[in-house]
Amino acid sequence: MSSPFWSDIVARLDPYVPGEQPKLANLTKLNTNENPYGPSPRVLEAIAGELGDSLRLYPDPSGTLLRQAVADYYGVDLAQVFLGNGSDEVLAHIFQALLKHEEPVLFPDITYSFYPVYCGLYQVDYQRIPLGSDYRIQVADYLCSNGGIIFPNPNAPTGILLSLPEIEWLLKKNQRSVLIVDEAYIDFGGETAVSLVGRYPNLLVTQTLSKSRSLAGLRIGFAIGDVALIEALERVKNSFNSYPLSRLAIVGGAAAFADEDYFREVCEQVVRSRETLASGLKSLGFEVLPSSANFLLATCPSRDAVELAARLREKGIIVRHFRQPRIEQFLRITIGTTEQNRRLLDVLVELLKQ
Ligand SMILES: *Cc1c(COP(=O)(O)O)cnc(C)c1O
Repeated sequence: MSSPFWSDIVARLDPYVPGEQPKLANLTKLNTNENPYGPSPRVLEAIAGELGDSLRLYPDPSGTLLRQAVADYYGVDLAQVFLGNGSDEVLAHIFQALLKHEEPVLFPDITYSFYPVYCGLYQVDYQRIPLGSDYRIQVADYLCSNGGIIFPNPNAPTGILLSLPEIEWLLKKNQRSVLIVDEAYIDFGGETAVSLVGRYPNLLVTQTLSKSRSLAGLRIGFAIGDVALIEALERVKNSFNSYPLSRLAIVGGAAAFADEDYFREVCEQVVRSRETLASGLKSLGFEVLPSSANFLLATCPSRDAVELAARLREKGIIVRHFRQPRIEQFLRITIGTTEQNRRLLDVLVELLKQ
């Protein structure tokens, strides 16, 4: 469809397509990397405490309660933290505020598929840098002149982690543009690059409460970086939406950072389940990329991936497939509860017999 009323930019957009959120209950939903466990009870209490007359008032436009919680957790200044309505919104502001230059932005050929969409929306040129044959990001391939570099760490949808020394090496070699490290999955076994922020004014780290803190439904993301980078994001945000986080999100998010024990327990359980599921899949003949995230990217040499995903769906299990060169024979499987992972393996055993 198109219309003469559309702007040229809208006519040319190729929007991101999120994973399915099925209306049916009882599906084993392993397709959008949500946490299989609920948020901390303290988050629910905090949100319940905010339900009342105060909802008639606008929230704090800069979400100071939550920003301070993030700043304290990472040992940075309040002025080094930016909040958004999910890290997707934070990323959108980053593309508009910091990546619009003469040179193209660099990101991997296999990566978060929202990056090229933001480039389309904000008219940012980009260049895809191929991952190595082992699906790893090779930092030495990012030294050409550029208008910024962005990748998730661990990368998505491969799940493969880049070490902190590799990121620091790239920061040393690339001082003329911003490096954005999208740490949506860092809490499942990686080491955050926030510790480098004080030394590299061109480093911006983004994170989300959607995955490791079980709050995809609340929509909270943040960025940590040099005050000048944060100020650029504030300028865009205050030209777009003064109140990106609701009152419920601000108190719920702050409570999530206050419950460190619950957070650690959930992350450790997901990591244990990941290793069990990876060995289970390998013993069924799957090739599984080494993941440091809450999902696995895996391929079954004897079955077509689209076909296998369709068979799984018939059995009530949904996983994600990307129609994309190099990974079209892979499935991305979110780590579920112990029972969900068991069920996936049981169903696969049945399907592979046929
Ligand atoms: C899930 C995800 C996001 C977005 O998270 P939200 O905070 O829910 O918007 C950003 N980057 C990557 C790589 C993700 O997988």
